[in-house]
Amino acid sequence: LLMELVKAVASKGSQTGQSIAVRSEQKSYSYHQLISSAWRISTLLCNGGLKTAVDLKGNKHLGGIRIGIVAKPCAEFVAGILGTWLSGGVAVPLALSYPEAELLHVMNDSVSSTEPSSSHDISMILSTEDHQELLKDVAAKTAAHFSLLPPVIGTSTELDQSHNGELNVIERVQGIENFSAIEDEKPALILYTSGTTGKPKGVVHTHRSILAQVEFMPKFSIRGIWQRWRESYPRKETKVDDAITVFTGVPTMYTRLIQGYEAMDPELQAISALAAGQLRLMMCGSSALPLPIMQQWEAITGHRLLERYGMTEFVMAISNPLRGVRKGGTVGKPLPGVQVKILAEDGNDDDKSGVGELCVKSPSLFKGYWKLPTVTEESFIDGGFFKTGDAVRVDEDGYYIILGRTNADIMKAGGYKLSALEIEAVLLEHPVISECCILGLPDRDYGEAVCAIVVPDAEVKRKREEELKPALSLEELSTWAKEKLAPYKLPTRLLLWESLPRNAMGKVNKKDLKRKLAADVQ
Ligand code: ATP
Ligand code: MG
Repeated sequence: LLMELVKAVASKGSQTGQSIAVRSEQKSYSYHQLISSAWRISTLLCNGGLKTAVDLKGNKHLGGIRIGIVAKPCAEFVAGILGTWLSGGVAVPLALSYPEAELLHVMNDSVSSTEPSSSHDISMILSTEDHQELLKDVAAKTAAHFSLLPPVIGTSTELDQSHNGELNVIERVQGIENFSAIEDEKPALILYTSGTTGKPKGVVHTHRSILAQVEFMPKFSIRGIWQRWRESYPRKETKVDDAITVFTGVPTMYTRLIQGYEAMDPELQAISALAAGQLRLMMCGSSALPLPIMQQWEAITGHRLLERYGMTEFVMAISNPLRGVRKGGTVGKPLPGVQVKILAEDGNDDDKSGVGELCVKSPSLFKGYWKLPTVTEESFIDGGFFKTGDAVRVDEDGYYIILGRTNADIMKAGGYKLSALEIEAVLLEHPVISECCILGLPDRDYGEAVCAIVVPDAEVKRKREEELKPALSLEELSTWAKEKLAPYKLPTRLLLWESLPRNAMGKVNKKDLKRKLAADVQ
């Protein structure tokens, strides 16, 4: 795919080279500029002191050496990935939102050699200027080289005046048409999982399993996103290149965007809602989308969020439809080309009750976990199906409902199996509750007791404090929830917290929380 792109950009008279490839912070970069920059990076990598191999045609390449790329989302970030591929390396892209300790873990894990003693496999960390001090330290600690990503130069309108000379550089790329270092089945990208259930795992994707398309904002900012939508409105009058048409986010982002909307004055609210409404599509995934958030979002923008289910390991597998019924509380049906199996607790396929662990086989499936051969082996069952670790149920219309992680969200209380996500979904309808997390804590009588950690809505909490009323009591919650939940699903413990501890992806590490709280209980 990359070679096709390079050829299209380099061919004389082609439009591709002039088209906008990346737009970031008000600047546009053409494919021509991007590929030229990627080529420069690839030369830097091959001549930067790393061990290289030579292919049959005499081209130097990195032979699968990992290149860490740490930058905010920007044109240089893309050029860094493409440049790594052009040099025959494997890109390990990382956002800077990672805490330092985790960054060090991931860099250490990915850039150091598979065999600890082999010094020839030393790799490189690339970054933009803003982060060089921190990353030089990381590089020193991980015994990797460090280099700055050269800036992608200019904007697309300057192309004709200043970049004619670059064409020659691109033509050279054509010479490596059969470059053996870039093959469909070879590793291209190591993506790290969110680290919700343990240390982040390196997920190895091949050139074949990658399909990506993105628009970049430097960071997630509620005001920035609302403003960007307003700038795209009305679409007819803005340039097509500038208009945002598709948006995807994790549930916490929509929660925060609603809060941002509520804080606007009525006039700004009206234009903001119209502007968001004109987008073609809005999607959500990565953790369960609470129904009240979905409903509020629809009431504000008119968009019924399209919820889907994905994992770093296969990117996307199950989705609600673009056209057709988007069912709240479900993640839709398997995408074309995706095969699924539901594994019952005894290890057999369970098509009777339709409840069990979801297993996925798909063309986008990863190759394996980086340096975790045992985990990789344990994650696959016969026929090449990958065990997701998520429990699911299929409803009467064939839509999939995610019940949660088999090891943290599925509880056993008094002989019943419960899904934490189902209970959370109900509790979030309570007017006092802004966020909540359900955990099973050890209990002598029931095996596990349902514990609810609740973040009360700030405004309701303030009003109640004025009236000298507690924000919420277990009794009040139970009385309210009795109508909606079976008795064995009712929380028997309630904790009121200011916020929930979330990782960079907005997810709560329940295993960790459980361990901490269980220690307190004893
Ligand atoms: P780690 O594997 O390091 O513990 P992680 O599993 O959170 O972290 P990701 O690959 O980012 O890392 O997330 C995939 C997980 O996110 C899925 O296994 C599933 O539990 C959850 N998930 C994704 N989409 C949804 C959804 N729409 N509803 C509920 N859960 C979802
Ligand atoms: Mg995972």
